Amino acid sequence: MENKNYRVLLYYKYRHIDDVPAFVDTHLKFCKSLGLLGRVLVATEGINGTLSGTVEMVNAYMEYLKGIEGFEDTFFKIDHVEGHTFKKMHVRAKKELVNLSLEEDINPLELTGKHLEPIEFMEALKDSNTVVIDARNDYEYDLGHFKGAIKPEIRNFRDLPGWMRENKDKFEGKKILTYCTGGVRCEKFSGWLLKEGYEDVAQLNGGIHNYGTHEDTQGALWEGKMYVFDERIAVDINKHEHVVVGKDYFTGEPCERYINCGNPDCNKQILASESSEYKYLGSCSDSCRLHPRNRYVMKLGLTSDQVRNVIQTLNMEKYPN
Ligand SMILES: [Zn+2]
Repeated sequence: MENKNYRVLLYYKYRHIDDVPAFVDTHLKFCKSLGLLGRVLVATEGINGTLSGTVEMVNAYMEYLKGIEGFEDTFFKIDHVEGHTFKKMHVRAKKELVNLSLEEDINPLELTGKHLEPIEFMEALKDSNTVVIDARNDYEYDLGHFKGAIKPEIRNFRDLPGWMRENKDKFEGKKILTYCTGGVRCEKFSGWLLKEGYEDVAQLNGGIHNYGTHEDTQGALWEGKMYVFDERIAVDINKHEHVVVGKDYFTGEPCERYINCGNPDCNKQILASESSEYKYLGSCSDSCRLHPRNRYVMKLGLTSDQVRNVIQTLNMEKYPN
């Protein structure tokens, strides 16, 4: 029997905050007093957070935030879950809510793409003069994305502007749609696109999350799962059908299971089945397998000679004589 008495909140609000350290301090105390867990970022430009807690906890939190001047209309995306999806409670001061590392910062309150409701976004997706660009990182895209969406080959959001400039020809003269998990990244990114001279730029209001839960769309045209930054890692979006687009990093087989590379200095997120994880020592490369503090190797209790033997076997498989 499912017992989903917990909620996960995902929200942001661009709104000037004067005294960030004081805001952080009060906010952290309040969240802790309620028993909430999660991660909240605070910058002079606003707030961006995701929290888990019981229905009572999250209701109290939403009432609290909406009670702060300027935050009355904060849009909360809400998931139903069985327990906490975070282990700790953090509230952190940041320079920016999302790191685009622009030469000149964008204020989304002054410049941002048109907000499309889920149903409008779905209609726009079907237009042949539309290009849809995923404003998330490559490992998020790999698990799931809108059908036909362009994948920027970036590991970090801050690399997106550079990638766009190198791939200009894909977008010129087109209607550009952008989307991300909850919408916070697109607020700035779509504003930046307008500043770059693209004229027809729109963003998915409330992000993929809103699109998946909205009754008009129920996630139609979404393929795979959505990557989330909490213990769930992957959540369902398309309520009509489920197409697996994720591929095992090692075998290319359909896969929706994420692991972190066992090398603590690498930590790369890769999709891998349990058997691939075991076979490839939970690591993305030979050099990661040989790292002296490899978590997976340590968990298995292998010596470095044993690791070398595994690598030799893997290479013989890859390059048979
Ligand atoms: Zn690695």
